[in-house]
Amino acid sequence: MTNPAQTPLMPIALPQLGDAEIAAVARVLQSGWVTQGPEVAAFESEFAAICGVPEAVAVSNCTTALHLVLHALGIGPGDEVITVSHSFVATANAIMHCGAKPVFVDITLDDLNMDPAAIEPAITAQTKAILVVHQLGMPARMAEIAAVAERHGLLLVEDAACAIGSEMRFGNQWRQVGAPIGIAACFSFHPRKLLTTGDGGMITTFDHELAARLRRLRQHGMSVNDRQRHLSKSVMFESYDEVGFNYRLTDIQAAIGREQLKRLPQLLESRRLLVEQYQRALRVIPGLTIPADRTDTRTNWQSFHVMLPEGIDQLVVMEHMLAERISTRRGVMCAHLEPAYQLPATADATRGPLPKSEHARDRSVLLPLFPEMTAADVTRVVDALVAAVAAARA
Ligand SMILES: *Cc1c(COP(=O)(O)O)cnc(C)c1O
Repeated sequence: MTNPAQTPLMPIALPQLGDAEIAAVARVLQSGWVTQGPEVAAFESEFAAICGVPEAVAVSNCTTALHLVLHALGIGPGDEVITVSHSFVATANAIMHCGAKPVFVDITLDDLNMDPAAIEPAITAQTKAILVVHQLGMPARMAEIAAVAERHGLLLVEDAACAIGSEMRFGNQWRQVGAPIGIAACFSFHPRKLLTTGDGGMITTFDHELAARLRRLRQHGMSVNDRQRHLSKSVMFESYDEVGFNYRLTDIQAAIGREQLKRLPQLLESRRLLVEQYQRALRVIPGLTIPADRTDTRTNWQSFHVMLPEGIDQLVVMEHMLAERISTRRGVMCAHLEPAYQLPATADATRGPLPKSEHARDRSVLLPLFPEMTAADVTRVVDALVAAVAAARA
């Protein structure tokens, strides 16, 4: 066993922040304009260009992005939104914030995403929308999911919190997940995602009218924003035509985001190379399930999870890894198993058993993955996992 005093803990993830981000923040502070302004506008157009969409709307985080989109689409009390329990709880919370009810369906184990075949049995007269997640950056089966949405006249929104840079083939073309098949896709810039602004979010869409409305709603419903007034040659009075929110991103955060975007190609390349090494090396563990892209997906590998062989205790493995000074995390949570979703308002959110969601949570372990990782680091993690699984078998 490694000597803990000598070996620093290997993190599960590590944001890439450096001199470029520091200089960008200094530039904004010196400019005198710190909240939503020119940096946010520039960040939006650069983000839109990378995704191949005409519109990107920056907001304070991905949870507010999801809430704002669902709200703008008219989701409210009495409505049901079909989604997955197997996601960070923010997905289901965004539906609850609208006063609507999340209806949880099960996943497929190969991609940890919504099972297209599970949607139809969950549809009722109250169903208004499907909120699909691209979990851990792995693109969901959008062709099949979009077909169900279309057949039943349901709105389709995408939680792409983890999926910047992920691509999928749709029809005969590769496209960014950020070019949504649904009405809009929502991204997060929390430090656990590929790009970070501390906190932050982005909505991408092809719909210009929706984008304009989202831009008003994120700033108190104001008809004219601060920057338009500032740039105007004449006096402008704004109006407030509907009740809005304060979901703004600041220019300080957007300036960091613009530098982060420049790093994206290199981040994607290093993550994909590290995962290839993991995929090859992990084959030595019998019964271990190792994720891989389908022929129609190119994952950004926001996180890399493995599913443990039957009978191997997750906690024992994770404790063994920690003793080896390697951070791991349990698989993605299941909202329906958390106390907040046992309340009367939400207890009937689950239409059926979710055995695959629970299996994924209880059998998966996330392994360290960050751009500064070396081949030797990957080997160290794999060796530790081999030993941990052997120890758990004994
Ligand atoms: C991180 C995450 C969110 C929440 O993002 P925030 O920016 O922290 O609000 C929502 N959905 C999924 C799938 C996530 O992974």
